Order: sequence, then C-alpha cells, then structure tokens
Amino acid sequence: IQNDKDSQYIVSNWAKDHYHKLLTDTDEGQSIGLSYLRQRGLNQQTIKTFELGYSLDQWDDLLKSAEKAGFERKYLEKTGLAIERKDDQGKDTGRRYDRFRGRVMFPIHNISGRVIGFGARTLKANDKSAKYLNSPESDIYHKSDVLYGLYQARQAIRNEEVCYLVEGYLDVLSLHQGGIRNVVASSGTSLTESQIRLIGRYTDNVTVLYDGDAAGIRASLRGIDLILEGGLNVRVVLFPDGDDPDSYIRKVGDQRFKEYLDSSSQDFISFKTNLVAKEAAHDPVKKAEAIREVLQSIAKVPDPIKRQVFLQQTSGTFGIDEQVLITEYNKLVKNSS
Ligand code: ATP
Ligand code: MN
Ligand code: MN
Ligand code: MN
Repeated sequence: IQNDKDSQYIVSNWAKDHYHKLLTDTDEGQSIGLSYLRQRGLNQQTIKTFELGYSLDQWDDLLKSAEKAGFERKYLEKTGLAIERKDDQGKDTGRRYDRFRGRVMFPIHNISGRVIGFGARTLKANDKSAKYLNSPESDIYHKSDVLYGLYQARQAIRNEEVCYLVEGYLDVLSLHQGGIRNVVASSGTSLTESQIRLIGRYTDNVTVLYDGDAAGIRASLRGIDLILEGGLNVRVVLFPDGDDPDSYIRKVGDQRFKEYLDSSSQDFISFKTNLVAKEAAHDPVKKAEAIREVLQSIAKVPDPIKRQVFLQQTSGTFGIDEQVLITEYNKLVKNSS
C-alpha cells in the first residue's frame, strides 16, 4: 500500500511538471493557456510559485507521455488523471482517455508541498462541461482535508496572524500576487471541520472573503458557524454585488484592496446580526426568529467570555433588554442539548 501511494505521488508530481512544460514551452500552451493567464493578470512569478500548467486539447496526450516516461497506467487511473472508457452497456472497454484536456491546470499541494490533485479551468467560452474540473478522491487526495494555497500561504498566515478564506483558485492567485499571501481557498465546496482544524494549526483568526452575491452569503452562514465551533475568531468582508476578491483587486488595485479589507471587515456575529435584522425589518415575528438565529451562532462559540460580549452586543443591535436575551439564550441552549 505504501509503495502504491508513493507511486501516486510520483505520477502526480510528474504530471504537474508535464502540464507546466506544456504551458511554457509549446505553441498551443503559450497561445491558449499562457495568454489566458496573462489576460487574467497573472505574472510569470505567480505562475511559477503555484506551478500552473496547461493540458493539451487531445484525448491522450498525458496517457501517451506517461507511457513514454515509463509509468504504469494504473497509477494514472488511481489518481484520476485517466478515465476508463465504457461501452454502451457500461462495461470497461479497456481503453483510457485523459481527464483534463484543453484546460489551465492548478496543482493542489498538501502542506508538505507534494502534489496530490488538480483543479482545471476550461478556456472555452461556452463549454458544455463544467467550468472547473477537479481530481476525484484518491488514496492521496481527500478533498475535504485540503485547502488550496495553504502550502504557499502557511508562513504568511503565521506572520500575519490571520488567514483569508476565499472561494476560488483565481482569488488565491490574484491576492498572493498583490502581496496578500495569507490566503487559501475552499474551492467551491462548503467548509469542513478538518479544513478548519488545518487553519487552526496556524492561526486563531479567519477572515472570510466570499463572492458578493446574496445566494453565496446565505449559503456561507452555516460554514461560518462551523468555524466558530472550531474556536476560531471569524470576520467577514463583503464585496460589491457581482465582484469576487479576484475581480475586485483587479478593479481597484493592491493598495486600495488592502485598505478595503481593513476598513470593511466586520466581526461575524455583528455581520449576521445586521443581515438578519435587515431581513426581518419591522416584522416582530420575523425579528424574534432572527434573534434566535443569531443566538444559535453565539452558542457555537466555545469561549464563555466571548459569548458574553456577543450577547451584550446583540442586545444592543436589536434593542432588546440584555436579561431577556440571556434568558432566551439559556432556553435555546437547554432545548438543543
Ligand atoms: P473564474 O474567476 O475563473 O470564473 P471563480 O473562482 O470566480 O472562477 P466561481 O464560480 O466563483 O469561480 O467558483 C468558485 C470556485 O468554486 C472555483 O474556483 C472552483 O474551485 C469551484 N467551482 C466553480 N464551478 C465549479 C464546477 N462547475 N465544478 C467544480 N467546482 C467548481
Ligand atoms: Mn461565485
Ligand atoms: Mn468567484
Ligand atoms: Mn472569479
């Protein structure tokens, strides 16, 4: 088994080098992949630091090249780099094809810097398949245990004593290039406990920079409760509707982006309080429901002193007597335990 895993690491590392060379040293890579990355504003240094690559728009370039390099096909299959071609009855034909074709490649590293999988973005304007493809789960790649960019960010997270959490690959790359190196991405999936524990090894402070669409914000609330439960302090930065951290830093520039982070980050509990208070507007029934929603989040905070501060703050925002709020809080905690 150990040998088997080692072989999967080795073939993943080889594929990363292969994709990188295709990006920098071939006509197709340069004219399609590299020019796309340039157009997205990424420079050579960033491309190198994150070992970005390009997969040729062919069915079996990687398979053929791997064979030439002496790799056994089964490791390409186990890492999901190759896919088995099935016949109409769903039976394996024994034939294989490359999973990633004609895409910009983002290698995913573990915290020791080994490549364990890939994210890949299509370059076609109206691709019928997904905009992003990822490696499937394998012996070496467990999606829920990985944060994109953590390998490149970990020292900066320690130094800055905060981790910025974004949604996408390009958000990580643009911020890193703009001098904000303490940034990692959940890569579109909702956060997991093990990802939060991973951040907790480096800092107690997380600032969430999610895309500025209303659906995204609502959906992110639950993930953020999980961060609170992990005992971390959470702040939130919202971007103008339609922007994500990548598009916003490209729009306003590095300096103004940093100022924006500092001036518009809010503590998560205050953020949630304001959000649900606004939704409830002047409807007393909705307001009571909104208050309970905030209390649910406060209940996740393991530190009793912080909980107390949040309760005081929330009573202020809603204009509710603190004792009444605490009574309600105690009821709620008792009922849910
Ligand atoms: P871009 O700026 O290149 O359009 P993005 O990162 O802003 O990309 P979003 O649509 O905001 O793209 O998605 C955020 C992240 O979610 C992506 O970076 C990717 O990790 C993941 N993701 C998005 N779409 C898909 C998909 N169809 N399948 C799998 N993962 C996806
Ligand atoms: Mn989005
Ligand atoms: Mn986005
Ligand atoms: Mn984007």
